[in-house]
Amino acid sequence: MPLPPTTVRYQCSACPWTKTVALRGNAVLPGQFFTACPQCGHKPLQTDPPDALTLGAAQAAQLLRGWIKSDGSL
Ligand SMILES: [Zn+2]
Repeated sequence: MPLPPTTVRYQCSACPWTKTVALRGNAVLPGQFFTACPQCGHKPLQTDPPDALTLGAAQAAQLLRGWIKSDGSL
């Protein structure tokens, strides 16, 4: 079942870095998911919506499990 894309805005509280990404339920790609600021290394990042980080982590973990099952080479 396709999920609507979720737009997430990451914001660093220690420097001016911000990034807005569109997360899709079945396509969390490298470069769309941040746990720390790529500019200064500060974490945690602020996200809007606030639960986006948890949601993204859950989606990424699910996606990785799917790759391992279907490919077997990871
Ligand atoms: Zn920063």
